[in-house]
Amino acid sequence: ATLMRSLVKKRVPLQTGRMCYSSVSTTKLFIDGKFVESKSPEWLDIHNPATNEVIGRVPKATHEEMLAAVDSCSRAYHTWSETSILARQQIFLRYQQLIKDNIKELAKLITLEQGKTLADAEGDVFRGLQVVEHTCSITSLMLGETLPSITKDMDTYTYRMPIGVCAGITPFNFPAMIPLWMFPMGMVCGNTYLLKPSERVPGCAMMLAKLLQDAGAPDGTLNIIHGQHDAVNFICDHPAIKAISFVGSNQAGEYIYERGSKNGKRVQSNMGAKNHGVVMPDANKENTLNQLVGAAFGAAGQRCMALSTAILVGEARNWLPELVERAKGLRVNAGDQPGADVGPLISPQAKERVNSLIQSGVDEGAKVLLDGRNVKVKGYENGNFVGPTIVSNVTPDMKCYKEEIFGPVLVVLEADSLDDAIKIVNKNPYGNGTAIFTTNGAVARKYTHEVDVGQVIFFFFLIFSFFIHEHGWVYNTHFQCINLQKERV
Ligand code: NAD
Repeated sequence: ATLMRSLVKKRVPLQTGRMCYSSVSTTKLFIDGKFVESKSPEWLDIHNPATNEVIGRVPKATHEEMLAAVDSCSRAYHTWSETSILARQQIFLRYQQLIKDNIKELAKLITLEQGKTLADAEGDVFRGLQVVEHTCSITSLMLGETLPSITKDMDTYTYRMPIGVCAGITPFNFPAMIPLWMFPMGMVCGNTYLLKPSERVPGCAMMLAKLLQDAGAPDGTLNIIHGQHDAVNFICDHPAIKAISFVGSNQAGEYIYERGSKNGKRVQSNMGAKNHGVVMPDANKENTLNQLVGAAFGAAGQRCMALSTAILVGEARNWLPELVERAKGLRVNAGDQPGADVGPLISPQAKERVNSLIQSGVDEGAKVLLDGRNVKVKGYENGNFVGPTIVSNVTPDMKCYKEEIFGPVLVVLEADSLDDAIKIVNKNPYGNGTAIFTTNGAVARKYTHEVDVGQVIFFFFLIFSFFIHEHGWVYNTHFQCINLQKERV
């Protein structure tokens, strides 16, 4: 840990204008295989969201430091891209074991900086670990294709080749999983990687870099810079960077997509969400209510796949009082406290934003059935807590419906029929994921085909093994649930 962070024992001015009298750790940069202290005059505070205490500082890397990082990636690319696939695979086989061995430590760091409960934090690492495990199949993932005799005496071969230096820009809500979506897969293919983690939660990425180094990744194959807009602009503009992966808000994602694409880079932007869960009256009530509560309020709603909008169809609207009772049972507390279900939001600004979106619903005629705005957490009075909140009588023209809330808030709409529910979902500009709760296969099929959202989850209480085998749909870990990835071609 001291390699990645060092303690500054002197009295230091903080970005907030306050002075810090106690020791504050500084986050280092990772350049050319070394954890180095930034020379930047500009630093940002890192807070514990449960207390708002400053727990560290992160630099805005200087232009020279960013250049050094990308140059290191470029130099390493020549050797790394020529390294045998089996040698690259061996590094990631060791890496996945090191992540497993350190899952608890990584989770503690996530809870400290991000606020989520320790169980959620372990899940965060675990989901990323699954991607690292997937990289270990690179020997078959990189296979090419051949077509003999495309014309007389000529065959066609397709190779999968690395593209060069790739860059990742990540958000605060999954400090382990999202960086692990990016650099392991990019690197195992032979690319080198420049990562800019969220400036609000940089610690986990640094620990992941150290573990990768311990697994044997050569110097320069992964570099990490910190910062905000300047670092993002640098990535969008530097000619050596060939591809950018972004995950975060629409505002940043659209900007990065445009600026990076204009510079001829491949850019993928995974952005905001407003995920709808359609509840049919024939659904299994017990299962549905449990799933709704977990999906709406888990991780304090700070998940791009949070189920933040429920559409109750027909008689299912009568389930609201029971939904409220279940949500009331969740315990709001600091993420490292035993029994905590809902941790704090990332910042006081996030809390204020969530509260104001709840109020906007009230002002526009919605009903707050469960109000988490004034929740008090003993011993953590300065934390950014909002308790589970359920807003009913919501209509599609309301601000709380149109905007991503990104907090533990479930907005509830009603519809008379499945067709009406589908119309509502398809009119919403967001489309990350959606779920339908039903025991009727025909209803599930209709929803899948007519809803315009990329990921569809069905919650059954029956097992439709015919569908699974006939259509090759992905069978999820929950035996009553199928997760379908829809692709438009
Ligand atoms: P964010 O957009 O504020 O930050 C993401 C990254 O972009 C950070 O590294 C940040 O430094 C940078 N950034 C922020 N504002 C910028 C700007 N104006 N210009 C250039 N760069 C900027 O996102 P966040 O608050 O950290 O994360 C929450 C958002 O991420 C939510 O909208 C959530 O839905 C989304 N998200 C999406 C997915 C997905 O897969 N679609 C997954 C997780 C999170």
